[in-house]
Amino acid sequence: MIQVSKKYGKLRGMRDLLPEDVAKLNYVKSMVRKLFQLYGYKEILTPTLELFSLLAAKSGKDIRQRMYVFTDLGGRRVALRPEMTAPVARFYINNMTSYPKPLRLGYIVNCFRYDEPQYGRYREFWQGGFELIGSKEPESDVEILEIADSLLKRLGFSNHYIKINHIGVIRELLEYEGISEDDQNRIFTLLDKGKLMDALNLLKELGASSRFMETAKSLFSLKGFNYNEILIEVEKLLIDYEDALTAFENFKQILDLSEKCGLTGRLFVDFSFARGLEYYTGMIFEAYAPPVRVALGGGGRYDKLIELFGGEPTPAVGYSPGLDRIVLAMDELKIPFKQEWYARVFVIPVNEKVKSEAVEIAYKLRSFDISAELEVMNRSLKRALSYASNMKFTHAIIVGEKELLKGEIVLRNLERNVQYVVTLEEAIRLLREKL
Ligand code: AMP
Repeated sequence: MIQVSKKYGKLRGMRDLLPEDVAKLNYVKSMVRKLFQLYGYKEILTPTLELFSLLAAKSGKDIRQRMYVFTDLGGRRVALRPEMTAPVARFYINNMTSYPKPLRLGYIVNCFRYDEPQYGRYREFWQGGFELIGSKEPESDVEILEIADSLLKRLGFSNHYIKINHIGVIRELLEYEGISEDDQNRIFTLLDKGKLMDALNLLKELGASSRFMETAKSLFSLKGFNYNEILIEVEKLLIDYEDALTAFENFKQILDLSEKCGLTGRLFVDFSFARGLEYYTGMIFEAYAPPVRVALGGGGRYDKLIELFGGEPTPAVGYSPGLDRIVLAMDELKIPFKQEWYARVFVIPVNEKVKSEAVEIAYKLRSFDISAELEVMNRSLKRALSYASNMKFTHAIIVGEKELLKGEIVLRNLERNVQYVVTLEEAIRLLREKL
C-alpha cells in the first residue's frame, strides 16, 4: 500500500485540493463571477492546449522557457496555456471581430507553468480574467483598475494597494534612444526581477548617452503613493521627449480618473516597475496585500497584440487575478471566507424497517431545495447523531417507527440541541424559512 502511494505520488509543483480548499477557491471564483455580472463581462472558455507559437509569441522569455510543451500525435507543437491574454486575443480574432465594440470578456481557468515550486507559486494555478477589448480610452484602463480593487475589497481585504506604471512612457523613451524592442524587453525582464542596477548597466552597454542614463536613473527612482509630486518631477524629466510625454499624458488621465472610483490612496506609482510579459504597451499594474509578498494579480494595456496575431489593430486592456494567491492571502490575513448559512440535514433511520421511508424523506427534502444526506452506514442512532454533529450538519431528521405511525418525524436542531416531533411538511416549512 505504502509502496503504491509512493509510486503514484503527485507530480512536483502540482496540488491536490481537499474539499475545504476547493470551497475557498470557489468562494473567490464566485466573487469574480459576481464582478462579471456587475461590470458586464461575458464569461468564455478556451482550450487548455494551444499552439506553442501562439503562446510563445509575446509571453516573455521567462514564461516561454517554462511552458509545458509537447508534440501531439498529429505532429503539432502544442503547449498548456501559461496565461490567458494570448488565447483571448486569438479567441477574439477567430470568433468575435464582428461583434459591436467594446467587448467585455471574462474567464476563470487553470494555467500551467513549470515554475520552481515555492510560496504562492504552483505549476498548475487558477486565474480569473477581465479583458476589455476595443477601447483605447483611459476610462477603460480605470475600469480595469477599479475591478482589481473592487474584487479585493469585496472579499474583505482592507490594506491592499495597486503598484502601477506606464510602460508606454518607458518604451517611448527607450525608442527615442534607439533601443530595439527586443532590447527594451530585456531591460523590462531585469526590472521585473527588481534588478535595477543590471537594467541600467545593460542600457549603458547598449550605448545609451550619459544624459539619457541620468534621465533613466532619476526616472526609475521615482515612486510613491503621493504621486502628484512625482508626476511633476517626471514631466520635467521628459520635457525633451515628445512621444514619451504623450504616453505620460495618458498616464496622468488614468490617474486623474482613478480618483472617481474608490482608488484614492490605493495606487502606488513606481516608474521602475515592469512586467515580464512583452505584450504590454500602456498602463501596467499588480495588486498586493502586505505583508503577503507575492502579487495577487496583474494586468495592463496591450494595444498591439491582436494585430500581431493577424487581427485588425484593436486596443485592449485586462486584469488577471491569481485566485490561489488570493486564497493564500485571505488565509494569511485571517480574512473569513463568508459562507452563506443554509440548512444541512442528516436523515437517520432508527432501524432497518424504516429505511425506505428515510430514503423517501431525503428525496422529498431535496425536491424542496433542502440539502439532505442519508445515513448509509447502518450506525446506531447515537453514533449517527454524533457523526452528524462532528460533520457540522445543522439538523437531523430521525425517522422512527413510533412517530411514523402518526405521520411524524423528529426534527433535531444540532446547533441549539433542541428537537421537535412534527410532520414532514411542517419540518420542510421550518427548514425552508431559513433558506
Ligand atoms: P501573470 O500572467 O504572470 O501576470 O500572472 C497573473 C497572476 O497570476 C499573478 O499576479 C499571480 O497572482 C498568478 N500567478 C502567476 N503565476 C503563478 C504561479 N506559478 N502560481 C500561482 N499563481 C500564479
